[in-house]
Amino acid sequence: MLDEKIAPIYEAVIQRNPGEAEFHQAVLEVVGSLGPVLAKHPRFAERKVIERICEPERQIIFRVPWQDDRGQVHINRGFRVEVNSALGPYKGGLRFHPSVNLGIVKFLGFEQVFKNALTGLPIGGGKGGSDFDPKGRSDDEVMRFCQSFMTELHRHLGEYTDVPAGDTGVGLREIGYLFGQYKRITNRYESGMLTGKGIEWGGALVRTEATGYGTAMFAREMLAARGEDVEGRTAVVSGSGNVAIYAIEKLQQFGAQVVACSDSDGVVHDEAGIDLALLKQVKEEERGRLDDYAARRPSATHRQGANIWEIPCGVALPCATQNELTGRDAATLVKNGCMVVAEGANMPTTPEGVRTLLDAGVAFGPGKAANAGGVATSALEMQQNASRDRWTFEYTENRLATIMSDIHDLCYSTAEEFGQPGNYVVGANIAGFQRVANAMVAMGLI
Ligand code: NAP
Repeated sequence: MLDEKIAPIYEAVIQRNPGEAEFHQAVLEVVGSLGPVLAKHPRFAERKVIERICEPERQIIFRVPWQDDRGQVHINRGFRVEVNSALGPYKGGLRFHPSVNLGIVKFLGFEQVFKNALTGLPIGGGKGGSDFDPKGRSDDEVMRFCQSFMTELHRHLGEYTDVPAGDTGVGLREIGYLFGQYKRITNRYESGMLTGKGIEWGGALVRTEATGYGTAMFAREMLAARGEDVEGRTAVVSGSGNVAIYAIEKLQQFGAQVVACSDSDGVVHDEAGIDLALLKQVKEEERGRLDDYAARRPSATHRQGANIWEIPCGVALPCATQNELTGRDAATLVKNGCMVVAEGANMPTTPEGVRTLLDAGVAFGPGKAANAGGVATSALEMQQNASRDRWTFEYTENRLATIMSDIHDLCYSTAEEFGQPGNYVVGANIAGFQRVANAMVAMGLI
């Protein structure tokens, strides 16, 4: 049941943004927590802060024409949604995937605003991408696409304006082509306009690992708050991309036994524990599929179209995509004794899934808190760019660990303050919102 002040705001969002189911879901998930905040701080209602946050500051949609290796012309659609800049320049990744549309970009950008606020670093929120599918494309094709994409988008970017990064389908290769084209068009070596760069050309150590590491750290913090530990527990991690691989790495360093991961074809179950070197070889070097992993690993089985959440575990980290963990999956996890779920992906758990986990007392870390380590380390990359400095791996990882611990504690204490101890969804939504809302009120009606 929505609060009486919140319900009409949410109704208006649905009417103004028809057909954008993921955006509606993301808005509902946040505003559903905000009734008590409006009661405590009437000025947020008077200044219509929630209504303003739900309307992005700027939405850019553009044509991206490019030619494949055979000379055929293709037309894709590019997006950048600049949602909120109250705390700093818009910051958020670019996603290249056939499923990308305006609603998906708006949901991701909306989540990003609160996530970035939780880091305590000076970054606003935005997101972008394209329905281009880099899978199966040659390096030259990806380069031509990225150059065309940046030729249009560059006019909206800048280190004080809007700073994109990678996301699904946008890794080091794509970031390189995007940065190169920006540099060429503007004739500026403006390192701080894009993050996730290569180490030799302005990138930061730990950025590659940061989202996955941070998610595992957040899971450990949640268990520690209950007097438990990750060590010795069985874990499953969905996905096998950037976030999943480094979540697995950190869980293994913490002493957990990670027995499964997945991709969009199926699930690998490896009772001996995932061989991370082999997984990296298959996924990062060969850009291969998980059945290639299973073929080289006698202890592993690969099942096409299987459901990873049916594998019993104490720790579950969804790190693939949105709405991949349903109510039924959550019930299976609970039945199998899962103690903690931390979202490495953005909104991977459906609303029913979240309810099921919370009702069963599972420690649940929503993505805007649990996966904030990636964007936090992007902000650390911007700091290094601004000061023309380079930090060591150890120093940067320590900063990341402190940030994740601070986010955990902020969510924990905020949930307690608002009468819902242990509910990190409420804690993250309210804490993130209050930071943005206070800045918006301070800056007047803009
Ligand atoms: P990525 O490197 O492209 O990996 C995505 C992984 O998820 C791939 O293994 C992919 O498999 C799998 N996947 C995609 N759709 C799936 C489906 N329907 N069922 C099962 N597996 C599926 O992307 P990423 O950077 O790891 O991002 C993963 C998630 O984390 C996204 O929600 C992203 O927004 C979020 N996130 C990323 C970062 C970051 O720093 N990278 C930061 C915060 C949040 P295929 O190879 O078969 O497609």
